[in-house]
Amino acid sequence: MGSGETDPEVDDLEQIRDAVRALCAGFPGEYWRKLDRERSYPAEFVAALTRAGFLAALIPESYGGSGLTMTAAAAIMEEIHAAGCNGAACHAQMYTMGTLLRHGSAAQKARWLPSIASGELRLQAFGVTEPTSGSDTLNLRTVAVRNGDHYVVNGQKIWTSRAEHSDLLLLIARTTPREDVKRRTEGLSVFLVDMRSVQGAGISIKPIRTMMNHATTELFFDDLRVPAENLIGEEGQGFRYILSGMNAERILIAAECIGDAKWFIAKATGYAKERAVFGRPIGQNQGVQFPIARAYAQMRAAELMVREAAALYEAGRDCGAEANLAKLLAADASWAAADTCLQTHGGFGFAEEFDIERKFRETRLYQTAPISTNLILSYLAEHVLGLPRSY
Ligand SMILES: Cc1cc2nc3c(=O)[nH]c(=O)nc-3n(C[C@H](O)[C@H](O)[C@H](O)COP(=O)(O)OP(=O)(O)OC[C@H]3O[C@@H](n4cnc5c(N)ncnc54)[C@H](O)[C@@H]3O)c2cc1C
Repeated sequence: MGSGETDPEVDDLEQIRDAVRALCAGFPGEYWRKLDRERSYPAEFVAALTRAGFLAALIPESYGGSGLTMTAAAAIMEEIHAAGCNGAACHAQMYTMGTLLRHGSAAQKARWLPSIASGELRLQAFGVTEPTSGSDTLNLRTVAVRNGDHYVVNGQKIWTSRAEHSDLLLLIARTTPREDVKRRTEGLSVFLVDMRSVQGAGISIKPIRTMMNHATTELFFDDLRVPAENLIGEEGQGFRYILSGMNAERILIAAECIGDAKWFIAKATGYAKERAVFGRPIGQNQGVQFPIARAYAQMRAAELMVREAAALYEAGRDCGAEANLAKLLAADASWAAADTCLQTHGGFGFAEEFDIERKFRETRLYQTAPISTNLILSYLAEHVLGLPRSY
């Protein structure tokens, strides 16, 4: 491409970023502060994103979605966060949908995807984590037993976010006892649970109040009947299906962290220029400048890894290492930027009206969820560096 020419893909991406920024401008700090105080769900924000088609970014056009790339989807999530908003209320729709898209039958896709793309149905809940097994997903205890044309589910999930605001739940449960499978990764199956028909008849939901506004819950299954036709892919292969979806999840959440880091860096820089103490802007002191500059460098490096992971993902190549690296580096970058931003603001950083303490709480999550930092390091050590397996 010669100088002066433009790259249509880059132009498209810029247009998407501009459109997300314009939408987010309608949801300023006061909106999020109020919800945070009340711990309530950003229904209007999610509705606006849905109406604009952003939550259908990864659904192919043939099913009514926008058929965008992972790079574009990551740009959407990044811009939401860079604008001071929070995509956690809805990001799962983008990545849980991938399991249905890649592993669902033609009939399942035809039945569900168009309604998800139009916003008529929400697929925003993903039930993996359980209270006893935690990060050790292969030891989960929720069981689904086949009984004629249904599976009967019993057990419990924890931290199932957005369950109260989602029509559909992607659920992983054990269908073959662990001792009866040849490989430890077999025997788990994935189901699409239609929550509209089963609340109070097999599922109960208990909200968990957390340090930030996240709409997360505990789910209890008591003889929940799930039609056998809602099994995704082959019985017993569910772990493999959700692993491939987890790469998408890591890339999108890494992009959110990049957005958070950009927001914190912009806030810190702006304040450091304008706040004058000892007769000069605090940003004139290198003790104040350097942590911001370092946070910026960390963010830019992490951003490159997010882009690489997204490019590999959309090229259909293995991106396990890069998706994990992106999540690790971006979560560290956003956390470093958050800490620096708070420090730069002195006492005012703690005041609710500056939004910093809220974003600080929100971005801290990504050291722990959807996968904690230690588990990523362990993946890199074992699968990339070939060190002995630790667990
Ligand atoms: C707000 C929120 C929302 C969430 N949303 C969802 C959701 O929608 N769906 C869902 O399924 N889950 C969700 N999660 C769960 C999240 O994915 C888990 O919290 C996370 O994977 C860690 O699992 P755990 O909490 O059980 O920690 P544990 O597995 O108990 O680990 C505790 C600590 O020990 C460390 N640790 C454990 N084992 C090892 C080891 N072998 N080596 C080194 N360190 C180790 C971990 O890194 C962690 O720091 C959410 C969690 C939160 C807090």
